[in-house]
Amino acid sequence: MIEASVPFAPPEEAVTAARSAVALGLCADCFGRLFGRLGHGLTNLERAERLASMLGGVDFAPGPSCRLCAGAFDRIPVWVERIVRASAGYEWHRFTCGSRWEPEILAREEEIWRTVGTGWGESARAAFNRELGKAIEARTGAIGGSGPADLVFLADLEVGRVGVTVLPLYLQGRYRKLDRTLPQTRWPCRACHGRGCDRCQGTGKTYSESVEELVAAPAIRASEAEESRFHGMGREDIDARMLGRGRPFVLELVRPRHRTIDPAAIAAAIAQEAAGRVEVSDLTLAEGADVIRVKEASPEKSYRVIVVGAVDVAKVKEALKLFRGRAIAQRTPTRVAHRRADRVRTRRIVEAELVEGDTGRFTVQLRTEAGTYVKEWVEGDGGRTDPNLAGVLGVPLKVESLDVLEIHDVEVT
Ligand SMILES: [Zn+2]
Ligand SMILES: [Zn+2]
Repeated sequence: MIEASVPFAPPEEAVTAARSAVALGLCADCFGRLFGRLGHGLTNLERAERLASMLGGVDFAPGPSCRLCAGAFDRIPVWVERIVRASAGYEWHRFTCGSRWEPEILAREEEIWRTVGTGWGESARAAFNRELGKAIEARTGAIGGSGPADLVFLADLEVGRVGVTVLPLYLQGRYRKLDRTLPQTRWPCRACHGRGCDRCQGTGKTYSESVEELVAAPAIRASEAEESRFHGMGREDIDARMLGRGRPFVLELVRPRHRTIDPAAIAAAIAQEAAGRVEVSDLTLAEGADVIRVKEASPEKSYRVIVVGAVDVAKVKEALKLFRGRAIAQRTPTRVAHRRADRVRTRRIVEAELVEGDTGRFTVQLRTEAGTYVKEWVEGDGGRTDPNLAGVLGVPLKVESLDVLEIHDVEVT
């Protein structure tokens, strides 16, 4: 349908170019697209019709015999049906779509632009992707575009098949860990690398459970995802509790079938199944960008450390004063040297304070820059942390227990 109210006044060069394109055997869609970036508010078919009437009529090739697209635009409804079939079984509301064309066709298109002398051509692939997106929106009610998507479709025009990529579903929240035997993530057995052996009783795991598994299980059931990935804002040692408001995390649910899930119901299921070992709060739906935000954050952290050592608490108080606001040099600790590069990092102790003390045992509360190895700062790690508390006090110290009290990613007043 020609919308007569939309003005279309192509420059003379465009009309000349159109005249020399008449004999090329193009369909109306491809003909109009030679001038796709000329004038607003018209479809390429409408451009073709306006130009044709200026030229006194043009016999456009029927789609299938078009020398450029061979009817690709006519088959958009076929592609939409393929996409609907390929996505069956998955809940989706947002999508992006693209297409793969034979390189020869794209080359032929540029050749035609040069031959007829048009500077307004729009690429067949870009136009096809746009029209396919509109048709999918009309057929399914889903939203296309370049923003976050649930599914990505690739129409392969060369082989006539649709590729579907199911993007993950994300949940974010904060977890508290109250159990000193629980690792943050699934920990494959070192002996069998997860295949299952005698040492791990066939589980493939060093620890039977993890924060990741306890948090993911109800979410996987609700979304029917194939698997999950856990992204924590850093991690605590297995034997450290994670207290306070908890540690921010994003749970990535891989290839989910359902996306309308109830975070509150999942949080309730976690609470029930984790039975006080792990608690989750602020659970909400998230986006892929939140994974990057959580992984790149480096907030200060507060700890409570119970230390054993034969030292007078008054001396401890004095020593802690020296560390407040001070930078320490930490060489990669012995206990992680097998998986981290050996180098020296400078970290700052923000606050350090004696909470209580007795003969042989005292409690320190401290706040440090992200990435500080607290155990090593207390014990010294054979001089690899410098200065360290044991060194300053001149007695051997041992960390009895360590708790993360707060992750200061957001300050609460
Ligand atoms: Zn065509
Ligand atoms: Zn094993």
